[in-house]
Amino acid sequence: MVVLCSNCGGGTLQRSKRRFFEYPLSLLGLWPFRCKECNVRFLKYSKRSFK
Ligand SMILES: [Zn+2]
Repeated sequence: MVVLCSNCGGGTLQRSKRRFFEYPLSLLGLWPFRCKECNVRFLKYSKRSFK
C-alpha cells in the first residue's frame, strides 16, 4: 500500500503517534502520518490497520 503526502506528493511517510482524539479515527481507518520530506503531519485513510 502506498500513501502519498498530501502536501508534496512524496512517498516517504512515517506513521506518527496517535493523539487521544485520533484513536477512534484509527478504528475508522484514518491514521496520522508524517512526511519525512516536508515534515507535514496529516491524516490519511488507510484500509490496512497498523499495529
Ligand atoms: Zn511531504
